[in-house]
Amino acid sequence: TPTLYIVPTPLGNLADMVPRGIEVLQTVARIAAEDTRRSAPLLAHFGIDTPMSAYHDHSDRQATSRLLDIMRSGESIALISDAGTPLISDPGFRLVDAALTEGFRVCPIPGPCALVAALSAAGLPSDRFSFEGFLPAKSQARKTLLNALVKEERTLIFYEAPHRVLECLDDIATCMGDDRRVVLAREISKLYETIVRMPAGQLRDWVAADRNQQRGECVVLIEGYHAQRDVLDPEVIKGFDILREELP
Ligand code: SAM
Repeated sequence: TPTLYIVPTPLGNLADMVPRGIEVLQTVARIAAEDTRRSAPLLAHFGIDTPMSAYHDHSDRQATSRLLDIMRSGESIALISDAGTPLISDPGFRLVDAALTEGFRVCPIPGPCALVAALSAAGLPSDRFSFEGFLPAKSQARKTLLNALVKEERTLIFYEAPHRVLECLDDIATCMGDDRRVVLAREISKLYETIVRMPAGQLRDWVAADRNQQRGECVVLIEGYHAQRDVLDPEVIKGFDILREELP
């Protein structure tokens, strides 16, 4: 059956390209890429000479139907994005939707994804989490969103642009409180990989003091809200019990 393969690509370190992804890219009839110019060096590096077409979710319908035509003729295609897993804050949803609607097989190749890599090393609860994509670029909208998430108990995960990371950490400290634990996972798999976990206020000050921390790509994770913080500390309750016994 003609298949649409979803192929992840490295987040920075070329050695992270998965072998099955290379094999698939070498054998499909065409590769749909978010940006063909950015993907060309990667394909060259792995000796892949499969033809490429540009694909965005806002690509004209013709671009999508040309890709589907290839599958209608019985051949398979692959989708890649600039880095990481397609569809994760990247193009692909419309193509997958259209392929499934026409009854084609969609096959995911597991591999690099910034949110999963960041969560796996963050040291925040990972049993339940909410990936929120990119935070709004404007502070007002960002604060509105953060305020709406203050009592979310799951670990929150955001993608953020380097030039906004400081403003973003400042808004997190303001909305969630200086003590809420936050993780900044920067430049994953690259030379200056840095993953730090600190209370929000402290992390903001640390990033503010070091311009190098305001560069590169980053994932921001926020520890979930603990309902227990609203109730009394067990030590305090014990203290009340002792007092109650002592009182007439
Ligand atoms: N599809 C990608 C994935 O699977 O993670 C995400 C694409 S999104 C357009 C790009 C964002 O992912 C960046 O702004 C950053 O938040 C995050 N990101 C990508 N590479 C990263 C890296 N090496 N280290 C930290 N974050 C990264």
